[in-house]
Amino acid sequence: MSGGSWTRYAFVAFVAVLVAVPAVAPAFWVTLGNYIGLYSIVALGLVLLTGVAGQTSFGQAAFVGIGAYTTAWLTTSLGYTPWITLAIGLAVTAAVALALGAITLRMKGHYLPLATIAWGISLYFLFGNLDFLGGHTGLTSIPPLAIGSFELKAERALFLFVWAIALAALWATANLLDSRPGRAIRALRGGFEMAEAFGVDGARMKTVVFVYAALLACVSGWLYAHLQRFVNPTPFSINMGIEYLFMAVVGGAGSVWGAVVGATLITLLKQVLQDILPGLLGRSGNFEMIVFGVLLVVLLQRAREGVWPWIARLLPRSAPRPVPDAPPLKARHHAEHPGPLLEVRAARKAFGGLVAVNDLTFDIRAGEILGLIGPNGAGKSTTFALISGALPLTTGDVVFRGRSIGSRPPYEIARRGIGRTFQHVKLIPGMSVLDHVALGAYLRGTTGVARAALKLDRQEEARTRAEAARQIARCGLTAHTFESAGSLALGQQRIVEIARALACDPTLLLLDEPAAGLRYLEKQQLAALLRGLKAEGMTILLVEHDMDFVMGITDRLVVMDFGEKLAEGLPAEIQRNPRVREAYLGGVAE
Ligand code: ADP
Ligand code: MG
Repeated sequence: MSGGSWTRYAFVAFVAVLVAVPAVAPAFWVTLGNYIGLYSIVALGLVLLTGVAGQTSFGQAAFVGIGAYTTAWLTTSLGYTPWITLAIGLAVTAAVALALGAITLRMKGHYLPLATIAWGISLYFLFGNLDFLGGHTGLTSIPPLAIGSFELKAERALFLFVWAIALAALWATANLLDSRPGRAIRALRGGFEMAEAFGVDGARMKTVVFVYAALLACVSGWLYAHLQRFVNPTPFSINMGIEYLFMAVVGGAGSVWGAVVGATLITLLKQVLQDILPGLLGRSGNFEMIVFGVLLVVLLQRAREGVWPWIARLLPRSAPRPVPDAPPLKARHHAEHPGPLLEVRAARKAFGGLVAVNDLTFDIRAGEILGLIGPNGAGKSTTFALISGALPLTTGDVVFRGRSIGSRPPYEIARRGIGRTFQHVKLIPGMSVLDHVALGAYLRGTTGVARAALKLDRQEEARTRAEAARQIARCGLTAHTFESAGSLALGQQRIVEIARALACDPTLLLLDEPAAGLRYLEKQQLAALLRGLKAEGMTILLVEHDMDFVMGITDRLVVMDFGEKLAEGLPAEIQRNPRVREAYLGGVAE
């Protein structure tokens, strides 16, 4: 909904069609349109939760049920008005989602989807077995929605209301994706490690997305109850949960519009299949579910990203939003600190019986480039992880500017002013260079989900984008600002990682094998960039396997072998050190 002018026209045309439908379309299509609107709202939550954040949920139908049953029971038994029951339903949903999230969101891999199936089924049976909810027959005589004295009884009147809410949800979700928390949510894909390195509390953000998706499902359920005017457990079963997920997957996660496309396609397809399959097969039954199953398999094989990217390819590309100049974001107070900037004190890491880092002690002085080198398996990356907080220490400590940071979570260490890159580049392929670097500035902003969804963050967002553009320029990547990170060469991707780390305004920059896999010219560009950063006063820890690369740019070197410090000194001294040469040659000979 942002971007070039044609998108605005497309959007206006879409709204015009929506307004025209209840006036001209036959009743059958109005009903179908209502359901597509309701499903779109649920699928939208799944686009965010599953498509963007990578958390699969089969259980959304249960949240729809909570929204529907809350309003059904409160309006019929206690005579509450629907507007109050919506607020109550949202509160109940948030509470249930928080509780379920606390239990299940820590699960990894296929355990989370399995857990969502489990509670999806549990809640379904709960609806059917609670006497006050009417058991499997459900609750009837739910009052219609009313705006003032105007009752939304007719399907045609409801159509506009349903779609107004669906469009509002689309708008809010599109805003959210294009914001500070949105970038954090996108960074959750593929694990917390990357997001947490820039100060995002991954577990908290995952819970926020989960609750957001549940709240959308609840709104859909509330609308459903007042559209149908009766509820029973059937539409909140695990079958429907699978269908919602199917809509989100078919539509595609690239855009919030994928939710509408998916909901439309699945609803129409189901309708068509229900009409023609029994005739074709000469018997009745839920044959459409079989066709759906086959289609899902084909889709997962052929078009992982859903159908939205195909549609988007047909549409004219909108020009990227230019980055206007804006006042700088708040900078860190890089006050001089007496003594070393960072002290690794007898740091030890044992993996079972293997001691990967064995009581290692060294300092990093302010303003220097310190190289940490050693043969493969020496324990460099593990040391790096102990400093960045990616791994907890077994014993020992890490002290930054005089304060212990040992075993603190990565997002806390980032807050103290330590930026990092990853040995294996961690970028989201479809996300632009600008967005990646803006994610790096996460800690320098304050916008939360609500502000972002309501688009109240534009000033901070302009400053964040301007800051990202400055860091991109500092690293010489301006020509690639709007390209997706996945389209760049490895050397450029590594530099994007450096720009992203710089955007958090770090006092200390940690780089894990930034030269690995780079060609000669790329290595030279990287070396020039690092020298430039040092000249600007940056302190850098460079973990590197490649001896030749570090010799030219580091001030001092610490050499590791088998988890221990083998030597420490100036590059020239290290180069002459017979023990170091032996360790490297020994490593090669093995
Ligand atoms: P380097 O980065 O110097 O090549 P690493 O720090 O990656 O070395 O590894 C040091 C040692 O610790 C190696 O023997 C490696 O196999 C082991 N190691 C690293 N990570 C783990 C882990 N998560 N679990 C078990 N062993 C590990
Ligand atoms: Mg390594």
